This record gives sequence, C-alpha cells and structure tokens, in this order.
Amino acid sequence: MNLPLYFDYASTTPVRSEVLDKMLPYFSTLYGNAGSNLHHYGWLAQEAIDLSRNQIADYFNVKPSSIIYTSGATESNNLAIKGYLKGKSKGHLITSTIEHKAVLEIFGQLENEGYAVTYLSPDEEGQITKDNLKSAIQIDTVLVSLMMVNNEIGTISDYVAFKNICDSHAICFHSDATQAIGKIQLDFTCLPHLMSFSGHKIYAPKGIGGLLVNNNINISPIFDGGGQERGIRSGTLPVPLIVGLGYAFTFIPEILSFEDSLLRFSHRIKEALLNSFKNNILINAKSPSNISSILSISVHGVHWEDLFNSLTTIAISNGSACNVKATNPSHVLTALGHPRDLALSTLRISLSYLTTEKDIDFLIHYLQEKLDKLLA
Ligand code: PMP
Repeated sequence: MNLPLYFDYASTTPVRSEVLDKMLPYFSTLYGNAGSNLHHYGWLAQEAIDLSRNQIADYFNVKPSSIIYTSGATESNNLAIKGYLKGKSKGHLITSTIEHKAVLEIFGQLENEGYAVTYLSPDEEGQITKDNLKSAIQIDTVLVSLMMVNNEIGTISDYVAFKNICDSHAICFHSDATQAIGKIQLDFTCLPHLMSFSGHKIYAPKGIGGLLVNNNINISPIFDGGGQERGIRSGTLPVPLIVGLGYAFTFIPEILSFEDSLLRFSHRIKEALLNSFKNNILINAKSPSNISSILSISVHGVHWEDLFNSLTTIAISNGSACNVKATNPSHVLTALGHPRDLALSTLRISLSYLTTEKDIDFLIHYLQEKLDKLLA
C-alpha cells in the first residue's frame, strides 16, 4: 500500500501504463513534427495524430474533424466561449454559480467587457434545473455554458434537456465535460455543440485536452500562429501527449464497467461515517443519481485546519484542488448555502477503478479514528 493513500482522482489521475508505453517512442525515436510534411519523421507524427483523433472521434461517435486538441480543459473552455463569441455582437450569456473557475473566470472577464451574464443557482441538491434555464433565456441569449458533472459534489447535469432547450432557441450550448468523460455513459445522440475535456482526468497525461466542436458551429481562434487544427488552435502539436490521449479513450468502456464497485464503495463510506458521526456529518448533494466516484462530506464541530492537519495519511481535497487559494471557501459549497466554516471543513474524496476494497477499509478505519479524536 502506497501511503499517503490516494483518494483524489477527481483532481488528477496517474497515466495508465499501457498509455505511457504508447507515448514513449514519440519522445525519442519518433520525434517528428506533424507540420513537416516533406519527410518520414513528419509523416509518422501525422499518422499518430490521425489515429488519436480517430480514437477520440470513435468514442464520441463524431467526425474526426470535430476534435480540436488543446492543452487541457481550461484552454478548451476559453477557446469554446471566447472563440464562439469573437466577432459577434454582444448578446446575453447564461452559466451557473457552480461552474469550475476555468469557466466562471471567463464570464467574469466577459462581464467586464460589457456582456450581460445570468448565473443560474443550484437547488439544495446541487442541480441546475431545466426550468431554471428556460426562464433565464432572453431574446438575445447567444450562449449557454453549463457543466456536465460537477467536480466538487459529483452532480450530473441534465445536459440532454439543456441541449434540446438551446436547440429550440438556436442558442449555442457549451458544456465543460471534464469530470463526465470516463465517469458517466454519455448520450452520444445529444452531445453539446461545444464540449471541453481533459487528458489528466482519464489516465492520460497532463497538458493535453480537447474541444469537441459540432460541425455547424464556427469558432474563431483566440490566439494567432501557424494555423494548426483547422486554423482554430495554432501551435506545434504535442505528438506524445496526443498519442496518450487517444489511446486513453480506448479504455473508457472498460473503466465505466467498474461503476458497480464504485457505487458499493461510496455507499460503504457514507454509511460508516453516518453511523458513527450522524450529528457531525453532512453528505453534500446526496442524490443517488450523482456519480459514485466523487463524495463531498462536510464535518461540523471541528475547525477545518485541525481537520486537514490531522488527515495526513490519505490524499484528499478540501472542495476542489483547482482552487489555489485554499483558505477561500468553495464557491460551489457556498452556492449550496454552506456557511464559510462548514464549506472549509469539507472533504472531497474521489475514487477510481484503481481503488480497491482494501483501500476503502483503510479509509473508513482511518477517518473513524481521526474524527473520533477530533470530535471528542
Ligand atoms: N473543468 C473542470 C470541471 C475540472 O475539474 C478541471 C480540472 N480540475 C478543469 C476544468 C481544468 O482542467 P485542466 O486542468 O485540464 O485545465
């Protein structure tokens, strides 16, 4: 057992060994630039990229040309939202208060530039409802951005309904699907017009991701350069990372088949903690339809610093690992109505197909022992 034991898979995942093996030659012997189209090295790089693009497109059941490689979901969100709006007259925009910072910060910037933005609030279970969306739509609404799975509380959004509502009003629908890919079975018949995803959440490397661009949607580049990726995203393509991303997609069906054990693990953790600490534990967004691999648990009656200082043998997050200012309470938990102290005393435990029964035994025992002391 490797200690501290890792329960932070929503933050990042290890690169799968088969994926790493596929990538390695592209760092050493197969080092061509796919843009060098006059020689063998360049051709091999281009072939590897074509294969990866097909692997991703096959998974989503879309045309390969709809996949644009980026450096990760942060860039994909920026490209989707800013690239869609660029050159158009300023319309009304809709997003939610529980988006990742990689979406919220973009809308904050757009507001500064004079766009009108409506921020939808979740209900007490952390859900943005379709009625909520419908009633926010205005005559000049041009773009809706609502995430598919929340990275802190694991809620799954009704993205199919959102897409249909947007279609019926001719509005572009973007979804940050970073935490959905490899965690939920997607409805491939009703994917968002623009969809962001990231390699390092699906056992591919950090620094690579993509944007799915539905064929009817026009995206302008947000920076200038050599015109790679159909002119939408310039920059020499990172061939080894792209090879890893495409290959990682081929393992998603296998990863999804672990759902039953993740559900069982998540039940075991919740049940054990509720049995022992009923008056001090709050399971956030506890609808059974949430993903089973993200558990958000707030603890009453202990200062958050004491809580996290004592949990040193397990690797977990407080809310979201993506927020560098750890002393700010999570905006997602605040949107659910949590006061600052409770939001700060929140554990995000995230599981993976790599998590074992033994890991769960250890985690439950460890949390019981530590919380017993802290709450005594
Ligand atoms: N969106 C969501 C929902 C995320 O969970 C993350 C990563 N924490 C990001 C965006 C940012 O992704 P990346 O690290 O690939 O930029």
